[in-house]
Amino acid sequence: MKGFFEDGTFDGMSAVVTGGGTGLGLEISRLLAALGAKVAIASRSADNHKVFLNEAEQKGWTAASHVMDVREPDLVGEVFGKVAEEFGGLDILINNAAGNFVRPAMDLPPKGWRAVIDIALSGVFFCSQSAGRIMAKQERGGVIVNIIAPYAWTGAPGVVHSVTAKAGVLAMTKTLAAEWARKKIRVNAVAPGAFESEGAGQRLWPTKEIYEAIRNEIPAKRFADPAEIARSVIYAASPQAEYMTGAVITVDGGMSLGKGLAGEMEPDAVKRKR
Ligand code: NAP
Repeated sequence: MKGFFEDGTFDGMSAVVTGGGTGLGLEISRLLAALGAKVAIASRSADNHKVFLNEAEQKGWTAASHVMDVREPDLVGEVFGKVAEEFGGLDILINNAAGNFVRPAMDLPPKGWRAVIDIALSGVFFCSQSAGRIMAKQERGGVIVNIIAPYAWTGAPGVVHSVTAKAGVLAMTKTLAAEWARKKIRVNAVAPGAFESEGAGQRLWPTKEIYEAIRNEIPAKRFADPAEIARSVIYAASPQAEYMTGAVITVDGGMSLGKGLAGEMEPDAVKRKR
């Protein structure tokens, strides 16, 4: 594979990617496997695993898939144990699985709040804890990368459940990074802006008008390609980032930056009006 990462960057390493069969997770799984990692994807629906497994078979990647709900800590422990046994340890965990939908906070039912918090916050902890227990027993340690979103620190109306979960994961990232550094476990986060994904598209920008309104708010004037987000995740997981822990990499085309007084206007236009 040509590019920034050397062939075999992850040779001999094993990885679990939650939600690794769709959207961003699929791109991360592909890149890890193409660079030599043994990759297990884990999510609730086996149907979502087919694309990656077929591709892995064609390309000769070492791959596995597990039906697993991140909300069930015992099952998570069992699955991660199996992966470690089959692949000879666990070096990388990518906490990518999440759920989200748009609902004004005043209309959000307890069930909707709990569902998102359970998957996107508690699920990340259960997976991190299970992986951390395995990694701590390995001389070589391991690395965890959490997928959050810049609204963890800016806030975002309409998705209070997801914002709260991602803010919690941001705090979790820094806490576990400090707590586990001596065990050689690194914990980092990647905060993508809006990227093209079937799942997110259906729930977050269901019409062309909404898609265009979001696109227009992004200084780069485009959504990201999930593959370009995946590259930052791969960097955070790679041995090249060995001294980086507790960090957040924002990859959002400037979406979370302040617009200042000039807003969408070119600064020159403001100057001319004076
Ligand atoms: P997606 O395609 O909808 O993927 C979500 C994945 O999570 C699916 O593979 C799903 O598989 C899995 N999942 C959901 N609930 C689960 C559970 N309880 N247990 C195990 N797996 C579960 O989403 P995406 O758009 O690629 O998003 C990936 C990550 O990026 C998420 O963390 C999201 O919050 C973050 N993000 C997305 C955007 C965006 O613009 N799309 C922006 C910022 C951050 P199953 O249905 O098979 O369980």
